[in-house]
Amino acid sequence: MKRITLPDGVSVPALGQGTWMMAERPDRRRSEIAALQAGIDRGLTLIDTAEMYGDGASEELVGEAVAGRRDGLFLVTKVLPSNASRAGTMKACERSLKRLRVERIDLYLLHWRGGVPLAETVEAFETLRHAGKIARWGVSNFDVDDLEELGEAADLGGCAVNQVLYNPEQRGIEFDLLPWQHTRRMPVMAYSPVGQGGDLLASKALTAVARRHGATPAQVALAWALREGGVIAIPKAGSPEHAIENAAAAELTLTAQDIGEIDAAFPPPRRKRPLAMI
Ligand code: NDP
Repeated sequence: MKRITLPDGVSVPALGQGTWMMAERPDRRRSEIAALQAGIDRGLTLIDTAEMYGDGASEELVGEAVAGRRDGLFLVTKVLPSNASRAGTMKACERSLKRLRVERIDLYLLHWRGGVPLAETVEAFETLRHAGKIARWGVSNFDVDDLEELGEAADLGGCAVNQVLYNPEQRGIEFDLLPWQHTRRMPVMAYSPVGQGGDLLASKALTAVARRHGATPAQVALAWALREGGVIAIPKAGSPEHAIENAAAAELTLTAQDIGEIDAAFPPPRRKRPLAMI
């Protein structure tokens, strides 16, 4: 498994697992837990969740899936902006720890920017870090100007990642945010990397590249996200088959021809675009 080094020197797998929309259907629960466990067994040991997902139900499902196998995992969860005051962050973190059934969160993110001053949220994150409740913190859905503002409010070196939308259909961050973060050695955590299983996976370009490699379009999308380093991708798989397929994408290296064909179908940005979000 390819690995990515965080600013504090800790390394994480370049491919992890998302969990949005999990725990929403009782008939899928068994398959979702099996998917997370199959992924973990194949090296997808970074798991991303959020207090928002299913109003805590996704964190609970992750807690169930990782019970008894916490060692070696890297658990990421997120505080809602509406809870990101000093006191609110502390309480939200306690609730997340309980639902995840762990003593420490490996990475705690601000889900997106809200009304609470960034300095206040970061102060709460730092208090939690000193108390051993979280190992490090980061942000999500921040554009360059947001990160610059964060740098004025706090030590940017403490921000482990910025989690944003990134896939061939949504590559606006390549214009400025991605290089900005690369320069500062702050990894991008790419969400919706297989385009939420939609049209992207049926595109002619990804299908043709996949066929040449004996791979699948989802694997090509993941290899594409990881192609230049500094990016961690967190596909969500609801079945063990998809989790196993996604883990194998770490072995796939795209050629210049592959990348050229994907660029032709999904051109890179030529100008600044507002940060896309889901
Ligand atoms: P993804 O791009 O990960 O797509 C998930 C969809 O793709 C599911 O329908 C899944 O189907 C399908 N899929 C997964 N693997 C395969 C495969 N190998 N072949 C075919 N289809 C596949 O979208 P998400 O929006 O879920 O993003 C990933 C994660 O990022 C989220 O789960 C969440 O953790 C995080 N996220 C963060 C956001 C933020 O604001 N910070 C916003 C959005 C997401 P199936 O379930 O049947 O396997």
